[in-house]
Amino acid sequence: MAKEEKRSLISENLRDKFNEGFEYVLIHYRWVFVCFFLLPVSLIYDIYFYLRSWVIFNLNSAPKHHDKKVKDVQRQVRKWKEEGRKTPMCTARPGWQTVSFRKGKYKKTMFNVKVNLMDVLDIDVEKKIVRVEPLVSMGQLTATLDPLGWTIPILPELDDLTVGGLVMGTGIESSSHKYGLFQHICEAYELVLADGSVVKCSKEDNPDLFYSIPWSYGTLGFLTAVEIKIIPAARFVKLNYEPVRSLEEAVKAFEKCSMNSEENEFVEGIMFSLNKGVIMTGKMVHSAEPGKLNPIGKWYKPWFFKHVESFLSTGKATEYLPLRDYYHRHTRSIFWELQVSYGVYSYALLFFKLSFSMHYLPFPKDFSFSI
Ligand SMILES: Cc1cc2nc3c(=O)[nH]c(=O)nc-3n(C[C@H](O)[C@H](O)[C@H](O)COP(=O)(O)OP(=O)(O)OC[C@H]3O[C@@H](n4cnc5c(N)ncnc54)[C@H](O)[C@@H]3O)c2cc1C
Repeated sequence: MAKEEKRSLISENLRDKFNEGFEYVLIHYRWVFVCFFLLPVSLIYDIYFYLRSWVIFNLNSAPKHHDKKVKDVQRQVRKWKEEGRKTPMCTARPGWQTVSFRKGKYKKTMFNVKVNLMDVLDIDVEKKIVRVEPLVSMGQLTATLDPLGWTIPILPELDDLTVGGLVMGTGIESSSHKYGLFQHICEAYELVLADGSVVKCSKEDNPDLFYSIPWSYGTLGFLTAVEIKIIPAARFVKLNYEPVRSLEEAVKAFEKCSMNSEENEFVEGIMFSLNKGVIMTGKMVHSAEPGKLNPIGKWYKPWFFKHVESFLSTGKATEYLPLRDYYHRHTRSIFWELQVSYGVYSYALLFFKLSFSMHYLPFPKDFSFSI
């Protein structure tokens, strides 16, 4: 065997061994990677992101820069056209920034267009509309709107979900018996089309396009702004927990609560087994009864689904949650996925989380990390 061949065989073997070892560590000691790397990095990322958003909103500089940013998207699309449309286009957003489990391998071969539009543009309290760019996240939106006494009628629970991802992807998990799906609270969209033009659409303006946008996965154009309905917000959510002992009882209770939309602004149910569950109904209120306030979002509080489970043994109850704590109640534990993904290590995760003194703790970006 020639020397060159031998050398490349050895280096290939070494690479395979390294990959195997790396794989083993990541699979069996994932918590080490998550606790010592992913969580601290996620925390720094969140702090930077929220500070940036706060400064930009308070300086009111986003609306001035929006047109420039849209022009940059148009420039990239025109470049793609001039270069002969060799491959389809996609957003350049890397997989680790999204909530999805998917690894976007197609991004390596497609023409990547940077759509880095991540600011709240303006709030029109007369028209009851907030205009946002597509990368505005749910956490960012509540952090901006709640102090001003406003909120959006449907607030998907995970902080990192973005307006663009919810509209263009499958933002259908958080829905409302009162308002419908996330797209039903969107009043208008602004897009850059494949010919490089900018178009705005609403129920009155280009209605065909308007109704085709939700779930279109960017096939109709790049989303650059969305107008979303806003409603007045209160400080707390009065939340009632009612345990149920069969699937039939759960369905009946859920149906009954959903029909009473005057009284119940929020309806949610969690089943812990086929015959054990808790149905929750909530309403925004301006004050809380003494001794019944539960800031569930604080770092030392149990994960929300664990807290709900406790009512199976203690029975019916009512408490008051601060509005943002309620909205983001599933963020820290990603519903129950953190426990499922990390098993016993989730307790290690919890322990390490205690060392951070933030009110809200970040969940590891790319928690969906897999090899
Ligand atoms: C663990 C997990 C929990 C979830 N929880 C909830 C939940 O509580 N409530 C809920 O409603 N949904 C939930 N979902 C579903 C989620 O809303 C969708 O997967 C959504 O598409 C994720 O969006 P994203 O912000 O991560 O953006 P991305 O994954 O980046 O976007 C999704 C798709 O939208 C398109 N897109 C995004 N931005 C643009 C743009 N500017 N222009 C053109 N196209 C664009 C792209 O095609 C992209 O593939 C959850 C999903 C997961 C994986």
